[in-house]
Amino acid sequence: MYSLIFIYGITLGSFYNVVGLRVPLNQSIVKPRSHCPTCNHTLTSIDLVPVFSYVFLRGKCRRCKAPISPFYPIVELVTGLLFVLAPIVIGWSYELIVAWTIISLMVIIFVSDIHYMIIPDKVLLFFGPVILLERIFIPLNPWWDTLAGAALGFGLLLVIALVSKGGMGGGDIKLYAVIGLVLGMKLVLISFFLATLFGACFGIIGMLMGKVKKGKPMPFGPYIGLGTIIAYFFGEPLLRWYIHFM
Ligand SMILES: [Zn+2]
Repeated sequence: MYSLIFIYGITLGSFYNVVGLRVPLNQSIVKPRSHCPTCNHTLTSIDLVPVFSYVFLRGKCRRCKAPISPFYPIVELVTGLLFVLAPIVIGWSYELIVAWTIISLMVIIFVSDIHYMIIPDKVLLFFGPVILLERIFIPLNPWWDTLAGAALGFGLLLVIALVSKGGMGGGDIKLYAVIGLVLGMKLVLISFFLATLFGACFGIIGMLMGKVKKGKPMPFGPYIGLGTIIAYFFGEPLLRWYIHFM
């Protein structure tokens, strides 16, 4: 069962790469088929097996031998692993549907934001209603925590955007409303706390390594993704552990 979910996950991960890379450019997500950016060779089925093609071709285009970015198989692999992690952590319940949805959203946002520093409206307009619908049938306890979480996520980011004068993009604000629907009030705060913490840590490491320039904008989406996934799966135990030690 887990290997089946893993294969499902890496296949979707491969699709989310395409969605995350094409939607911000207003390109179709079905046509044209993916091709090698160096020699334009259209990728055939054997080039497109998630993760395995990359390993089998040793990270090179089958025709021109140009190196393929390891970014693609990494995104596929991480999606597969997170898909498997979901039933392990939360068990076999309807909540799994929500878990797989939020993982999917975070992976797409990660790809878009890291490439273009854009969180596409189209992606949020698709996932927002889907998640709202899921939370109607698979509610939080209490049910209104969904709406309160969305309002809190949106409001918190809006205030920070206003105070920091552009430190936070409009995409981040809207994204946090959608995340709030999934997480509810308590966990949306943990998600934001973790995202800020990771962003600051990586920012400082990047600056020390000379990769990030001070004042240069940095995509926040990847950290939001990381913070949200951790808050979703481990927020409650994390909070209990924290309170215990205080
Ligand atoms: Zn090529």
